[in-house]
Amino acid sequence: MDRQLVLVVDDDLVAAKSLARGLLQLGYGVVVASAAEARARAACEKFKAIVSDSQMSTMTGNELLEVVRANDPDVPFLLITSHHDEQVVVDALNLGADRLLRKPVDHKAVGAAIEASVRVRQESETRTSPGEFDVLLGLLRPVYQPIVSRVGACTVAHEALLRSDHPVFNHPGRVLDFAERAGRVRDLGRRIRGLVTDRYAGAREGQLLFVNLHAQELFDPALLDATESLHRIASRVVLEVTERESVEKIDDLLPRLSALRALGFRIAVDDLGSGYSGLASLVHMEPDFVKLDMSLVRGIETSHVRQRLVKSMTTLARELGTTVVAEGIETEAESKMLLQLGCDWMQGFLFAKPEPVVRDGVFVEEAPVSGERVSKLPESG
Ligand code: C2E
Ligand code: CA
Ligand code: CA
Repeated sequence: MDRQLVLVVDDDLVAAKSLARGLLQLGYGVVVASAAEARARAACEKFKAIVSDSQMSTMTGNELLEVVRANDPDVPFLLITSHHDEQVVVDALNLGADRLLRKPVDHKAVGAAIEASVRVRQESETRTSPGEFDVLLGLLRPVYQPIVSRVGACTVAHEALLRSDHPVFNHPGRVLDFAERAGRVRDLGRRIRGLVTDRYAGAREGQLLFVNLHAQELFDPALLDATESLHRIASRVVLEVTERESVEKIDDLLPRLSALRALGFRIAVDDLGSGYSGLASLVHMEPDFVKLDMSLVRGIETSHVRQRLVKSMTTLARELGTTVVAEGIETEAESKMLLQLGCDWMQGFLFAKPEPVVRDGVFVEEAPVSGERVSKLPESG
């Protein structure tokens, strides 16, 4: 994905537009957004840099930074502060801000700070020694996030997600980028699949395990080999293939998926709604599961467009016999709307965050209410 635009964030749109005009003069492509708009866009888009005010009426710059870092650890984030609050500065640095700029800012200073941040990030990326990837492989571990069912209100599956204790490659996106640059995607996939299988022993019979596959992993002969660790639990495994890179353009995809299905694996299309192909991958691949992209889920209760999109997806999925999983659900309002629109299973911080161990969290009703109600998993001790 090309990073071309600078995102300027401020609830004070006059100030934001004034800075944006200055950056335009310097030749940058610029988008202006309020904090809420920026939060939604940062969850699904990649920017050249994000320049945000620190004190906004609806959320702080640091709160926005936290959301941004969950999706994109690599975007330069510049925070504009008007005061000397030490805690704000310490928090910003801990959350991964690249630069702090004092108000009033001059657009030329902002431009220079963007360039410096981009340069520092590029340099630290290229300064990796050849053996570093093997070091990284030893610092990986899986975490598991529960997926809950609307029917029976219980944990039906977990998604395995990658975590890394490496000081620089410390986010799944960074680990995957490094693997791509080093030509080691298959090694990474083998390592993750081994770790994931070894540690999944605690899961209850009948629960499924969703495992993310990089597009290049699909063509790793080891995946079909009898020594492949996941084969031991194939009938419980759902392989997630992301729609983000238009999977249907991959040659030989369908025979590959058939071979995996013949071994007992089930298939999910991940991030549906994030790519350009929309419903095409659903029709093309006829997966057992689809996972709706978080950008469709966020704030769905107030967006008629997203509601219509999700409805068309769940309707088609039902016709194809595909189970719909909505992910990234953070609020009761989102979950309620997604249930109404026909989503079958749900995943998100509202229910549980990814954890190092598989827990048999029970999905409980908090209080008797009319209609369908969802509530959080009990706090894990
Ligand atoms: P994904 O497969 O779409 O995974 C969902 C991401 O959303 C995870 O981020 C998860 O921690 C996060 N998430 C879950 N619930 C919520 C929520 O309610 N709100 C918000 N804001 N986020 C939520 P994570 O673990 O950082 O992973 C990021 C991406 O990295 C994944 O997106 C996936 O594309 C990739 N990834 C992670 N683990 C693996 C892996 O083992 N193999 C491969 N190939 N890719 C992986
Ligand atoms: Ca996934
Ligand atoms: Ca996803």
